[in-house]
Amino acid sequence: MTTSDFRKVFKQLKVKPAKLEKYIKHNSPKKRSTGFNLKKCRRCGRMGGHIGKYGLDLCRHCFREIATKIGFKKYS
Ligand SMILES: [Zn+2]
Repeated sequence: MTTSDFRKVFKQLKVKPAKLEKYIKHNSPKKRSTGFNLKKCRRCGRMGGHIGKYGLDLCRHCFREIATKIGFKKYS
């Protein structure tokens, strides 16, 4: 299971409140203060290829898609 879909199961467990409570207790992600896991793309949630420079907080894939829209220009 990836980090992004912890909440996906909520939809299924809505009809079983006791199980939902147990699920949240045992499967909620750890609150972290540092580390790789905090650097997520704000557009798609991906953790790899993160660009934090200039306060972008995007992954390289999203950056490539929206770079021209946010004012970056390809040199050459
Ligand atoms: Zn992204």
